[in-house]
Amino acid sequence: MDTHTPAFPPSAAQAHARLARFVPHAGVAYSRRRNFDLGAEDHSNVSTLSPYLRMKVLDEADVSRAVLAQLDAREADKLLTEVWWRTYWKGWMEQRPSVWSAYRDDLTRLHNEVQTQSGLRARWEAACLGHTGIAPFDHWAQELAQTGYLHNHARMWFASIWIFTLGLPWQLGADFFLRHLLDGDAAVNTLSWRWVAGIQTQGKTYLADADNIAQFTEGRFVGVTGLAPSAPPVPAPPLPPRRDISRLAPYTGAPSDRAGLLLNSDDLMPPDLAKIGVTPVSTAYFDGTALQSPWHTAPMISTFRKALACDIAPDVELLANVQSITYWAKAQQLDQVIIPHTPVGPVRTALRAAFQTSGIPITEVRREIDSAAWPLATAGFFKFRKHIPDLLARFAGHRPSS
Ligand SMILES: Cc1cc2nc3c(=O)[nH]c(=O)nc-3n(C[C@H](O)[C@H](O)[C@H](O)COP(=O)(O)OP(=O)(O)OC[C@H]3O[C@@H](n4cnc5c(N)ncnc54)[C@H](O)[C@@H]3O)c2cc1C
Repeated sequence: MDTHTPAFPPSAAQAHARLARFVPHAGVAYSRRRNFDLGAEDHSNVSTLSPYLRMKVLDEADVSRAVLAQLDAREADKLLTEVWWRTYWKGWMEQRPSVWSAYRDDLTRLHNEVQTQSGLRARWEAACLGHTGIAPFDHWAQELAQTGYLHNHARMWFASIWIFTLGLPWQLGADFFLRHLLDGDAAVNTLSWRWVAGIQTQGKTYLADADNIAQFTEGRFVGVTGLAPSAPPVPAPPLPPRRDISRLAPYTGAPSDRAGLLLNSDDLMPPDLAKIGVTPVSTAYFDGTALQSPWHTAPMISTFRKALACDIAPDVELLANVQSITYWAKAQQLDQVIIPHTPVGPVRTALRAAFQTSGIPITEVRREIDSAAWPLATAGFFKFRKHIPDLLARFAGHRPSS
């Protein structure tokens, strides 16, 4: 297991190696120690696999299979629950896309308010730069900006202090994370911030507490003062109604069609094209990281994602912006473009708009695991959780011992 700063090599082989190194620690050690934030120099008690899971270089099946090959399902329960929790958030958002669009609308308004209201701008800047005077908060703001990663407990404390102690809008905090996290994800990040704010599980908030911070940072931050004593839920509209996840149209190209494959910053792994009988004549990568925020995103995110794309598909053509997708398709004389299905988020919005304008037919291919798991996120996580054994049986070949 890595014992120091988890630098993230942009390599699929390294992602699998990191998983293999972590598996022996994924049982009792993980469940006992996973809540400790030991500092930027030592995240060895957690997997630090999230940037690879985010880009689909690894998926839930890869992690579940690797873990269950060495550990009993009961021992691995905590880790598997976390891994499938991510899937749950993805499926939940897929069935309520208006939650993402409402967040983006709020952010447009707040972007304007930050430009025009000097008091808000000063408080927001101090929080983003780690200049608030709250030592652990300032440390986490800087750790995130420097490394692109934060431990889960630090994310919870940070979000709580942002909302309840500093009194800043949760949407600006979610945006700060999306501008810096290597694993920043439209669904997981937005819904986690909503959860801390008491909007997601309505009425249930998360309050950062000085004793809890001291205990779970092993004394790195003792006697923190000035934290909010209570966390009243942030007022918000009720949850929108659920809608079914749309079925995707099958590939209808002719065998003679020139098809291109468009990997993107939501999914770097080519879908199983043999299943639809297509051999792409060209592969491109569209990096939509900049679309994640109205402000600049940290360059390390795009650098990491592009390098990972080149590692996976060495002949890949890197597309700088949405407009270059059409140039690529025209230059390659493509009749069809195949895209790994993009989940709710800015990349989906941009790609669909680009292809509507260009008139080039696209086929989106959704992974079987997503098609099976996402529709199960109909209500709370505990309902979803009951399906995990079936998902493990189907996608990780796991048969529970009697
Ligand atoms: C406010 C806030 C914002 C967050 N934003 C993101 C985000 O943008 N992208 C993201 O991937 N995760 C996000 N998380 C969830 C979680 O913090 C990270 O997934 C985790 O810290 C990644 O580190 P790891 O790979 O070492 O996790 P491990 O503890 O090793 O867990 C293994 C995997 O399980 C999944 N996972 C773990 N914890 C959670 C969780 N609480 N919710 C959902 N999935 C989880 C991740 O894919 C992770 O890689 C957020 C949590 C909070 C509280």
